[in-house]
Amino acid sequence: MRLVLLGPPGAGKGTQGDRLIERHGIVRLSTGDMLRAAVKAETPVGLRAKDIMARGELVSDEIVIGIIDDRLKESDVQNGFILDGFPRTVAQAEALDRLLAARGIKLDAVVELKVDESILLQRIETRIAEMTARGEAIRADDNPESLKKRLDAYRVQTAPLSAYYAKKGTLQEIDGMVSIDAVTAAIDTKLKALQ
Ligand code: ADP
Repeated sequence: MRLVLLGPPGAGKGTQGDRLIERHGIVRLSTGDMLRAAVKAETPVGLRAKDIMARGELVSDEIVIGIIDDRLKESDVQNGFILDGFPRTVAQAEALDRLLAARGIKLDAVVELKVDESILLQRIETRIAEMTARGEAIRADDNPESLKKRLDAYRVQTAPLSAYYAKKGTLQEIDGMVSIDAVTAAIDTKLKALQ
């Protein structure tokens, strides 16, 4: 199974992604996680991405496409994968199409979690408060100003991907405002219908 998880910050991609990788025995390819690891390790990519990410803006298409291209060469993705946080622009989606075509593979589905913006802000604020209470480190971009930028970036640069994938017939829209289990069940139903 090869999936893209699409949805704004706070939509539940992490939670649902965890369940999907477990259930389907596939791996998660999260560009956000990969970039944060690069920032931590102070690699050349990390040094280029650090400040851009902290502001809540998107790093260049060239950087993330390169990261995904490299990652798709590894053996653990052959069983299937979930792309989380990629593609985030139409140019990235087009590049992904080329990367997959070159490998003779296709996406099975693009699962879009739909959540109203007012709810997103609330969810992320709760997540930050809970992490702080547990003494966990907060992401550099989990502050009100960067969060607003992340939501703006989503609305302007990433939301057009819904139409892109709807046109291709791969888009599966899911209501992300019901309970976690209900969202999982809705995703399951959609994916089963594809088999
Ligand atoms: P979010 O919770 O906002 O969805 P992610 O963990 O997916 O966050 O990504 C965090 C940051 O990493 C983004 O705000 C952006 O700066 C950078 N990033 C991640 N994926 C991409 C991408 N595909 N294209 C450009 N920038 C990206």
